[in-house]
Amino acid sequence: MKPFSYLRPATISEATAAAAKPGAVFHAGGTNLVDLMRQNIEAPATLVDVSRLPATIDDTPDGGLLIGAAARNSVVAAHPSVRTRYPVLSRALLAGASAQIRNMATVGGNVLQRTRCAYFYDAAGSRCNKREAGSGCDAIGGFNRYHAIFGASEHCIATHPSDMCVALAALDATVHLAGRDGERRVALIDFHRLPGDQPQIDTVLRPGELITAIELGPSPAAANSAYRKVRDRSSYAFALLSVAAGLELAGGKIKDIRIALGGVAAKPWRASRAEEILRGEAPTKERFLAAAEAELAAAKTFDGNAFKVELAKRTVAAVLGELTGVNA
Ligand code: SF4
Repeated sequence: MKPFSYLRPATISEATAAAAKPGAVFHAGGTNLVDLMRQNIEAPATLVDVSRLPATIDDTPDGGLLIGAAARNSVVAAHPSVRTRYPVLSRALLAGASAQIRNMATVGGNVLQRTRCAYFYDAAGSRCNKREAGSGCDAIGGFNRYHAIFGASEHCIATHPSDMCVALAALDATVHLAGRDGERRVALIDFHRLPGDQPQIDTVLRPGELITAIELGPSPAAANSAYRKVRDRSSYAFALLSVAAGLELAGGKIKDIRIALGGVAAKPWRASRAEEILRGEAPTKERFLAAAEAELAAAKTFDGNAFKVELAKRTVAAVLGELTGVNA
């Protein structure tokens, strides 16, 4: 690991000013950044510690929730408002990592964590366009069991590893940002990028911008929501596939529905096609499967991950069954 300097700003404006220094990188829980530094994938000149910046979880005037970016994953998962009004978020957080990591990891850092593609971390022996633009991609034609079935490119087929972000995508969350030029907001679903021909750029974050909070709107569908993660072992493993969903029933029909998939793309994948098919319909097992099948029709698989298509269909149907009481 290369030597670096360390700053701990007291305010958001001090933090964004510090981030303007060449080679400065924000640091919070360190649960991904320190790995990247140890592997010489990141070599910041300065760490700007933002772990003491806002971590509160507050009601918003419209009945939503504002979660400070420095809030620890374990604190958010256990918060009464999250558990009752946004259970999908609590369940997704508790499905991630280990208790020790959840105690350190922050909401902002969770959003910004980088792919867990093994070739990305193997700086000594593997080609990776995300780590070194133009070097190639050893996952294509290699071990790609964990890789994307949506939105991949010939340059990168990695997935985003976060559980929390899949829940946030289903909840239509908004990311609050602060930079030297002021504040702005970006929908979570638009925050992460698909790889295209620049897989080294993960998000739409501008240089020196800091995530300050995540905002959730009020929604009956959010209160009736769930998260299911399928993985190779039952704890401390990244998702092969995950489903976050919320729905509101009225008069025996689906009034509102949100479905997001994890482990399938470089960003949380909103299953808009499936939602469209189900909105306004009565919930049945056949409809759940048909909607999932329509969404998965656009999937493009590789040698090691074709199983994800059937797995996704069944998991979507199972989660919707859980939320509606329909045996799926
Ligand atoms: Fe790198 Fe992406 Fe290929 Fe993995 S899939 S080796 S992250 S370019």
